[in-house]
Amino acid sequence: KIRTRIAPSPTGFLHLGTARTALYSWAFARHFGGEFVLRIEDTDVARSTQDSVEQILQSMRWLGLDYDEGPIYQMQRLERYHAVIEQMIAAGTAYRCYCTPQELDAMKAGQEARGEKRRYDGTWRPAPGKRLPPVPADVKPVVRLANPIGGTVTWDDLVKGPISIANEEIDDLIILRPPADGSPEGALGIPTYNFAVVVDDWDMAITHVFRGDEHINNTPWQINIFAALGAPLPRFGHCPIILGDDGLKLSKRRGAVSVTAYEDSGYLPEAMLNYLARLGWSHGDDELFTREQMVAWFDGTHLAKSPAQWDPAKLAWVNAQYLKQADDARLAMLVAAQFARRGITVAADERLAARCALFKDRCSTTVELADWLAMYEAPVTPSADDVATHAGEAVRPALATLRERLAGIAWDKAAISQAIKDTLGEHKLKMPQLAIPVRVLVCGRMQTPSIDAVLALFDRDMVLTRLAA
Ligand code: GLU
Repeated sequence: KIRTRIAPSPTGFLHLGTARTALYSWAFARHFGGEFVLRIEDTDVARSTQDSVEQILQSMRWLGLDYDEGPIYQMQRLERYHAVIEQMIAAGTAYRCYCTPQELDAMKAGQEARGEKRRYDGTWRPAPGKRLPPVPADVKPVVRLANPIGGTVTWDDLVKGPISIANEEIDDLIILRPPADGSPEGALGIPTYNFAVVVDDWDMAITHVFRGDEHINNTPWQINIFAALGAPLPRFGHCPIILGDDGLKLSKRRGAVSVTAYEDSGYLPEAMLNYLARLGWSHGDDELFTREQMVAWFDGTHLAKSPAQWDPAKLAWVNAQYLKQADDARLAMLVAAQFARRGITVAADERLAARCALFKDRCSTTVELADWLAMYEAPVTPSADDVATHAGEAVRPALATLRERLAGIAWDKAAISQAIKDTLGEHKLKMPQLAIPVRVLVCGRMQTPSIDAVLALFDRDMVLTRLAA
């Protein structure tokens, strides 16, 4: 059975890169009728927070990436890791190392002086006939993997193709650190990422791992640990990083990198999912596809080998396409939430939905939609220039007539349209000569959808007051 997972570290928000590998892992599992697991890699105790866990869960929910198991927390599995460590030590595939930081520094200095590659020299690694140094009483040991000597680690990466790394290149990795000084009596040491990830992927029967390619260098160690445990090896797929528009790694300093930020900025989750999917994967020339299509199409092929560039303009375009099709009642809820952020209380009612319907074609985000609809909620201040140019003395008699007519009609689009036509006829004006001044005074801007439709969604009093002013 296909089983995939996403394993974020709760040291911040859900990063876009992680969201993308989560999406690939999820879609792959769904495509093959498998299962998708959420694991929280919280062994960096100093930097992990509950707040970050909540944010990650919220982003997963928002994106609709539902998981079949989890969240599973690594810090709740310490005993399991220790049991595996003991088995490895007994089997000779791991060993305790009592080197002090001073000794390690000296080792490093010596290697640098000799122009050698920096690596652990195997002081504490057992070997047939080798006498290990006496165990110092005051040093809390780490546990190291007895990495195979010689040979190559090879795997066929789902994204990058075959990759080989010689064991010579990698040393005896630390897989368990002792409890920090001052930890309570009996506290368990904490495993390092490369070890915990393997025990978990094994225990959780993960068959396919999609993750960022910053982990390619870790994979040989992980493969050696799988082998040491006699555990079946999953397939790995390492996705390239996402670049900012400056060609450098997308990072906080270069704009929003969290899923939450895009939720807050008025993007729709289905647009985000579509855009993220397409960033590093393709299905022919298709740019827009539904979640169901993605599941139907995503079989782990057609993943891009080289980095994709984050393109805010394209994301905005994708979002605009989804906004156009979005249900208006739903948009009303989202816009009401945007107004709430601005301290404005608006009911997500039918009228708000109708306003969304009228303006959504002009917007890329629900923030922009709220910007447009703000004129319905609070007074607008047209610029003095616009008033002087478009609503000057000459048009004022016509505006007065229109205002009078509007005061006396049934308040709907047809009647408003008629009132405008009658006013045009009476004052011998063309549509723009009246519509633009009305827009400037009532909407605070010169361009809007058809003015009768725009006005019909106002409270009549608001329109009359703005025209009178
Ligand atoms: N916690 C690791 C990360 O967030 C997981 C990497 C993996 O998927 O193995 O980078």
